[in-house]
Amino acid sequence: MSKQQWFRPEILGLPAYVPGKKGANTDVVKLSSNENPFPALPAVQAAVSAAVGDLNRYPDMFATGLIHDISWFHKWVDDGVVVGNGSTSLIEKILQAVVTPGGEVVLPWRSFEAYPIAVQAAGGAAVKVPLNADGSHNLPGLLSAVTERTRALLLCSPNNPTGVALKHTDLAAFLAKVPERVPVLLDEAYIDFVDMDDAVRSDELLREHPNLIVLRTFSKAYGLAGIRVGYGLGHPEMIAGLRAIGTPFGVNALAQIAASAALHSQEEVRARCGVIIQERKNLVAALAAHDIAVPASQANFVWLAGFGEALENACLDEGVTVRRFGQEGVRVSVGETEGSLRLLRAVASIL
Ligand code: PMP
Repeated sequence: MSKQQWFRPEILGLPAYVPGKKGANTDVVKLSSNENPFPALPAVQAAVSAAVGDLNRYPDMFATGLIHDISWFHKWVDDGVVVGNGSTSLIEKILQAVVTPGGEVVLPWRSFEAYPIAVQAAGGAAVKVPLNADGSHNLPGLLSAVTERTRALLLCSPNNPTGVALKHTDLAAFLAKVPERVPVLLDEAYIDFVDMDDAVRSDELLREHPNLIVLRTFSKAYGLAGIRVGYGLGHPEMIAGLRAIGTPFGVNALAQIAASAALHSQEEVRARCGVIIQERKNLVAALAAHDIAVPASQANFVWLAGFGEALENACLDEGVTVRRFGQEGVRVSVGETEGSLRLLRAVASIL
């Protein structure tokens, strides 16, 4: 017996998801997973502590309270919200629900590594449309890749790993041209770090496009990566289809409580995002002083295109873990001054 006999061919062909490399250094700042450097919000800590005694019970299967808080926050409707065990699980679920065997999913590349894996796991074929040289989505290219075989289209804004965000006017014009039979997933995991003009107003676009699903997570701006909760917003008909294949009790009790408490802590969340945005600006300016230009990041990370193992190793020597994508580039999370200083020392050491 071997896995060759057990698994579908497309599962055997899946690329491995490679986390950031760890070195021998024990004094390490982790800048490899785009996490939030701040500890859990005070309201979250209090709510979670208070709920620990009830863990013998299953959570609310329908996450009614959290869904209501999310729809309140977005001025949307409860029936237009689906929650999941991290937004990654929602991406998987959505693709499982819409991809037919061999059906195509159009996506920008390079983008979040989980996308092609989820497409293949759902039995589909990823159609990767290369990014523009500045790290932005090639919207005309994505549009012309849509065919009769297309079952879904993925967008990531700000894009992981380049950090570049879509503009509202560009996205609105693009969505107007996508056939309504094609579901569009707009992954906005990093939206809270956007501070540019003409930023996407996805709440508005949702009202106009019943085929649009907006994905958000509590892992980044809300600093809850460890508790695993994300959500999707969409037209109630779209959401009903997604809820139908949801994992029963898929969002645990502490996650539901923590996410609600975080949503109600907007002032602190915005202040923390402000600190991270400022840190990003400082780092981009310091890199420019070394003659290193990075794409215009609107996320909590920057993309050092063309850097590879030499930078990764220099970072490990300085005590920072980063995320290297072959020799294509290195992605570095932003938010901690100490981490940025170590990165800059590593960069200086290899120039
Ligand atoms: N989307 C993008 C673009 C991401 O980079 C990530 C996290 N690396 C996620 C989604 C996953 O978020 P979650 O923790 O909610 O699964």
